[in-house]
Amino acid sequence: MKVAEGIDTVEGLRVGNAYLVRGAEGLLLVDSGTPGSAKPILASIERIGAKPSDLRHIVLTHWHPDHMGSAAELRRLTGAEVAAPGPSGRRPDRTSASPPSTAPRPPRSSPARPGVPPSAP
Ligand SMILES: [Zn+2]
Repeated sequence: MKVAEGIDTVEGLRVGNAYLVRGAEGLLLVDSGTPGSAKPILASIERIGAKPSDLRHIVLTHWHPDHMGSAAELRRLTGAEVAAPGPSGRRPDRTSASPPSTAPRPPRSSPARPGVPPSAP
């Protein structure tokens, strides 16, 4: 389905979404579905009037099986280059939502408590 000029959703995925973006040098695929999704993705490429060899780049938004599951297969079938985030591109989980360790913190011995202004003399 066309979502914007030059951007189509991949149809027939069992889980999640993937997008085909048309550019000057060919197609870019955003996410690759679950393992076994190469077939519907290639069918979507043909539906928009392109060939599998037009797929030049695959960009994975994050390392979940419903996003990267068919990247290797598509790379093998089309020769597209795969780009994916490194470890720092991982989505933070809830427990790591604290501020970075470099953030200034009051010294442990400080009598001031968070949210309590220091008392005037
Ligand atoms: Zn995910």
